[in-house]
Amino acid sequence: MSNTYTCEACNRTFDKVDTDDDVKAEAQVLWGDVDPDQLATVCDDCFKAVMAHFGMNFE
Ligand SMILES: [Zn+2]
Repeated sequence: MSNTYTCEACNRTFDKVDTDDDVKAEAQVLWGDVDPDQLATVCDDCFKAVMAHFGMNFE
């Protein structure tokens, strides 16, 4: 397993800070019962931008 991931929005590569299990748990909270493999991998900055686009604020 790689310790990095590439953001699909800005194409930058980041070190993973969360385990895959943490990411899945977070995705379920946000999106409900979805297949995590179908979610785009994005960095925190792009994630916040997407959330702002949908009118959600996690600050
Ligand atoms: Zn990004």
